[in-house]
Amino acid sequence: CRMRGFSALVQDKALVDGAWVDSSNAKATFEVRNPANGAVIGKVPNMTVADAQKAIDAAKQAYESKEWRSLTAKDRSNLLKKWHKLIEQHSQEIAEIMTAESGKPINESKGEVAYGNAFVEWFAEEARRIYGEIVPSASPNREIIVMKQPIGVAALITPWNFPMAMITRKAGAALAAGCTVVVKPSEDTPLTALAVAKLAVDAGIPKGVINVVTTNKAAPIGDLFCKSPDVRGISFTGSTEVGKLLFRNSADGIKRICLELGGNAPFIVFDSADIEKAVDGAMASKFRNCGQTCVSANRFFVQDGVYDKFVGQLKKRVEALKIGDGQGCDVQIGPLINEMQFNKVSGFVEDARSKKANIILGGQPLPDKGSLFYAPTIVTDVPPSAQLYSEEVFGPVVSIIRFRDEDEAVKKANDTRRGLAGYFYSENLQQVFRVAKRLEVGMVGVNEGIISAAEAPFGGVKESGVGREGSKHGIDDYVDIKYICMGNL
Ligand code: ADP
Repeated sequence: CRMRGFSALVQDKALVDGAWVDSSNAKATFEVRNPANGAVIGKVPNMTVADAQKAIDAAKQAYESKEWRSLTAKDRSNLLKKWHKLIEQHSQEIAEIMTAESGKPINESKGEVAYGNAFVEWFAEEARRIYGEIVPSASPNREIIVMKQPIGVAALITPWNFPMAMITRKAGAALAAGCTVVVKPSEDTPLTALAVAKLAVDAGIPKGVINVVTTNKAAPIGDLFCKSPDVRGISFTGSTEVGKLLFRNSADGIKRICLELGGNAPFIVFDSADIEKAVDGAMASKFRNCGQTCVSANRFFVQDGVYDKFVGQLKKRVEALKIGDGQGCDVQIGPLINEMQFNKVSGFVEDARSKKANIILGGQPLPDKGSLFYAPTIVTDVPPSAQLYSEEVFGPVVSIIRFRDEDEAVKKANDTRRGLAGYFYSENLQQVFRVAKRLEVGMVGVNEGIISAAEAPFGGVKESGVGREGSKHGIDDYVDIKYICMGNL
């Protein structure tokens, strides 16, 4: 692990129609800060609604252009492969930019670059497998042909917790399908997005196919995406609140919509569990990116018979976590992303404290490290009335609840309007099948705390979202099914 310093990949302009551009509002910019120390690390254009409209126009023009439309699936696959190769070559620089703007420990940033790039590779491969069907007809003189066609322009709105992977997971699928895109990255992490887009340009992806609009005023641009008839699909990863808003606002245009929203993941440890493995899984699931992932375990349900052992072992591991600026090679826990998140995490812990939960570790800010650092915390006996129980904390806080039997655990795990990921540890085969089927989530980790992969469908049920990303299903949101009836044969 060696930091090499910032590179030519850091951009200070947005990308519209293949050109690096300023905001049309007097070249307005906003600052990007390192959450570990508050230092300004870059400035990017604060684009306006009119600028976003230009990006939509460029994406539409590119979609209809010969340079893009006439490409075969193999051509698109090759372009994605080139992009993949360039990202691989620049992985260290991208990881450094990511750590600087998101606070993510450098080893995790490297992991995200590899994970994010796996989507580019996967969709380069899937581009050639967007098969149609010929279905046996009930009429002797007819043939039923089904083909998949790109939807057109897709708007991609992405969060700060995975500054690269949430873009490639969407854009990889969209481009493979033959769509063009306008990306609106998070205001907290625009530099990673621009760096990755720069490599797409270098890979020879035609102008206008990928546009990146940076802004710190997301709402009016989100509104434009919802209202514009030229945007045929919206793919969003972020908060449930904003997801619901986009869902409502895009109803009028009957848009294709893919929403990856918040979760409230249960992590159940049964009496039959291998406790060492369960503790490993808990650490990985909870503390990755300082607990700021939508699939992070949010509520730990631990069965009576293993409760003391699990909590004791977990406490030792949490105490040993190395906290600091993510640029440090051995750092495991960085800062929270911004003041809003910081206030949310500390507010949830204070709420639990006031409701008589037991804070057995942490439970306070770490001002000596920096203003956005919060101590890794373990809270036990969390009552259902606590925010830690019902809402996603998105921070380094383990909330533990004791249970007696399987039925109680499953009922409590499902007692939420969210349903993204769920985890449980059990060595009992019958129990594994029973519980995996009963959990109301889109993704289940059985004896595993980290489950995301380019090959697997990522997505939620209930209020955690619609649509799936990654896997062969990730293409579905970017294609329309067309039925052609060949008659009078
Ligand atoms: P988070 O809690 O992850 O910051 P947000 O939902 O606020 O979640 O942010 C995710 C993405 O959604 C970011 O790119 C942000 O700028 C964008 N966003 C926030 N508000 C809106 C909105 N009203 N319309 C469209 N996008 C929005």
